[in-house]
Amino acid sequence: MKYSSSLMLGAMALALMMVAGQGDAQEQAAPAAPRAQAPQGLTTHVIKEGKVYWVEGGGGNSGVIIGDKGVVVIDAKTTPEAGAQLVAEVAKLTPKPITHVILTHSDGDHVNGLAGFPDGLKIIAHENNKMEQMAVYQFAAVEIGGGKCIPPANRLPNLIIFKDTVSTTIDGERFVIHHFGPAHTSGDLVIEMPAYKIAFVGDLITNSVLIHPEKNGTFEGWFKNAQGLLGLNVDSYLGGHARDLDTKDSLRKIVAGNEAVRAKADPLVDAGKSLAEVKTAMGDPAKDAAGCRGIPYLSLPNIEFNERTDRNNELK
Ligand SMILES: [Zn+2]
Repeated sequence: MKYSSSLMLGAMALALMMVAGQGDAQEQAAPAAPRAQAPQGLTTHVIKEGKVYWVEGGGGNSGVIIGDKGVVVIDAKTTPEAGAQLVAEVAKLTPKPITHVILTHSDGDHVNGLAGFPDGLKIIAHENNKMEQMAVYQFAAVEIGGGKCIPPANRLPNLIIFKDTVSTTIDGERFVIHHFGPAHTSGDLVIEMPAYKIAFVGDLITNSVLIHPEKNGTFEGWFKNAQGLLGLNVDSYLGGHARDLDTKDSLRKIVAGNEAVRAKADPLVDAGKSLAEVKTAMGDPAKDAAGCRGIPYLSLPNIEFNERTDRNNELK
């Protein structure tokens, strides 16, 4: 999926104005995605000894791929301190320098830790990810909480992905990077490593799927992304806040759960029920989960209410 840059930025600007900006440095703290772990500790898990690891804690999960001469990291954690901790964790695995960081999406808990990384990195991201990060600065005046959700200005993506699929070799390792369209955000990337049959999927797979409409993410797009993930020739997926690798079977269960949300919510919306009525019928908590800067996260029934209402109001 491709966007006109000016249109995209305009739409995002409007959305950001309406919600006064929202990243999600606190995403992992949302009630729907509880994490029982020490805030300081990082835990490194082996995918392929000497080659591929994932590091838990300090924000979103990170991937670590050790190439011939350097290291590729996927996602950078929440704070400069956590980013520096990740860099130190990589140094325990190999003396090779980190040369590339690939960002699965623009949320603060995957991006802001770049401030703790060394200079001179290649930072790979989808074009919409970069625009989402840049849009935050335009509304910095309305930031609450000292701007802790603003990404580091000197760590913006500098190797940009425009295509839906890019197959490339970095440091002797093959990466197939997919963009299946907007879902969690408008700039989601899936990083597939065919040699290890694993895909790093960012927050496309989380304990409870979260959609950022203010970043042009859509629930409808999430289902398309899920089909894209299921179509990959991989055995496992690393979600952005998962505590273990997912499989095609576990992903199919998440899809079925989300299909059930749609199947229950849509007839209520079609019957003209109000948002409050739909939320009550769906068992939503009375109060939305708190997001970054005090802006609540919308529940999936709420997201589906909005998207279904728009579909029902389509000008044909
Ligand atoms: Zn996220």
